[in-house]
Amino acid sequence: MENVIILGTGAAGLTAAIYTARANLSPLVLDGIQPGGQLTTTSDVENFPGFPEAVDGNELMSRMRAQAERFGARFQFNVASHADLSDQPLLVTLDDGKTLETRTLIIATGATAKYMGLPHEQKLIGRGVSACATCDGAFYKNVPVAVVGGGDTAMEEANFLTRFASVVYVIHRRNEFRASKIMADRALKNPKIRVIWDSVVEDVLDVGKNEVTGLKVRNLKTNDLSTLDVNALFVAIGHQPNTAPFVGQLDMNEKGYLLTESTRTKIPGVYAAGDVQDPVYRQAITAAGTGCMAAIEAERFLESQGHA
Ligand code: NDP
Repeated sequence: MENVIILGTGAAGLTAAIYTARANLSPLVLDGIQPGGQLTTTSDVENFPGFPEAVDGNELMSRMRAQAERFGARFQFNVASHADLSDQPLLVTLDDGKTLETRTLIIATGATAKYMGLPHEQKLIGRGVSACATCDGAFYKNVPVAVVGGGDTAMEEANFLTRFASVVYVIHRRNEFRASKIMADRALKNPKIRVIWDSVVEDVLDVGKNEVTGLKVRNLKTNDLSTLDVNALFVAIGHQPNTAPFVGQLDMNEKGYLLTESTRTKIPGVYAAGDVQDPVYRQAITAAGTGCMAAIEAERFLESQGHA
């Protein structure tokens, strides 16, 4: 029987691991589908406090992992495919079929940015293709960039990018935005933002440079295909929280994000931290913060049950 199982090794999961390990709870941490989480797809992280010269995303996550290991966290390269949270002990089934028992569970499985599935999109992630303007926008000073999407995220990303870019093209597949009126109006009034309506990106171009040089864009009304010269493409078509194993057991919003009070779910001993319960901020530092909160909650729960 485990005291604590942590699902996920992004900033939330690893911070929860550091805190529960330092509380002598010897947490078992399952790596999850993307070991190290979303930060491993970013090169320089410039907004994590304590790194004035920036830190490589992989390096930051390796350091957090080493810090957790130093205090006794145990890591297993595995993914939880199912959970039974109906009673104590909580049961976590792994994708190799093995079932683990635990007193507390910290869900830090994150959210996966949706991409469009274009031929050259994946290979250019971190080389001009990004799903996070806050993370990567500052690399594109005085050059043209594009955002795909018509929701609040796309508006927010586009507005943010105007701080750096010479021009921000917003490419949307319809002729009206899905975003709230206030966010849409703000984007439409911004002189640096140009909207390309009724259009989709068909591919990302790199002309052999291995970094984004432009986009192939199709107008859905005229079927015209054109090339748009940009140095970066920010994909803002939504995120998918990784909550499949908990459907029907934990409360979720309509998009599948876990609903929590602080980091507590409705089941005693089960906590959620990071992007899996946060559709709004989605930052490494906020994920780390909620990872810490979940760890303290788990520690207090175990103490109340006489196990810590
Ligand atoms: P949304 O699902 O709201 O919007 C996604 C957008 O991407 C839509 O415009 C959609 O087009 C477009 N899209 C989806 N798939 C594709 C595709 N394959 N190709 C091209 N375009 C595509 O996601 P968001 O991330 O924008 O927002 C998620 C939630 O978070 C919302 O509830 C939002 O209000 C909230 N949010 C709030 C913020 C705030 O208040 N500050 C900031 C950011 C998000 P179409 O419209 O045609 O479906």
